[in-house]
Amino acid sequence: MKGIEPILENNRQWVSDKRAQDPDFFNRLANGQKPKYLFIGCSDSRVPASAITGTGPGEMFVHRNIANMVVNTDFNLLSVLQYAVEVLGVEDIMVVGHYGCGGVAAAAGNKQFGLIDNWLTNIRDVIRVHETEFLAISDEDARLRRLVELNVIEQVRNLAKTSIIQNARKGAKPPRLHGLVYDIKEGLLKDLKVEDDLITELEHIYGTQTAAEAAAPAAPSGTPAR
Ligand SMILES: [Zn+2]
Repeated sequence: MKGIEPILENNRQWVSDKRAQDPDFFNRLANGQKPKYLFIGCSDSRVPASAITGTGPGEMFVHRNIANMVVNTDFNLLSVLQYAVEVLGVEDIMVVGHYGCGGVAAAAGNKQFGLIDNWLTNIRDVIRVHETEFLAISDEDARLRRLVELNVIEQVRNLAKTSIIQNARKGAKPPRLHGLVYDIKEGLLKDLKVEDDLITELEHIYGTQTAAEAAAPAAPSGTPAR
């Protein structure tokens, strides 16, 4: 078999297996989706979103790009985020990085690769913000592993900075934000436990109010100024 023939054959086999296990499987999915999770991961072929999270069709909304970035001028990411939060009502959003990420490694070097350098600049910004910690790690592998983690943490922060998440946080059921790292060598996901105060500590800079909130009377005394 050549080209995409194996893909089509796998697909036919998958359909017949699914139908055998659950005759109503496809009818149910055709009725719509109500996923609880949004997964923002790297495009790397070794990080398949469904397989590593044990989720099936209908359970997880997915966005992937090089090095799992949350860039606030990326209309693709913003559209996925807005639809996931405001229409689908996802409960948990996870930014999933992975050790051995080629995008992160490329950003840590000073070689040019073309157009992608402009995308990698966003990771170089992560290095700039954390340069002291980054340079203090002498082992190169350990330094890159830490950069993968720092990048995930910064992308979770970037999520919190979007108007979509800021507005959702004022609602009754804001989605929880998580930063995870996938270890390709072991297959395990590690929760970086990105604390809520780490997300909100910069609210005095990045927090924004709607026009109605800005016009509302000042908060009672005792409430910390924002
Ligand atoms: Zn990657």
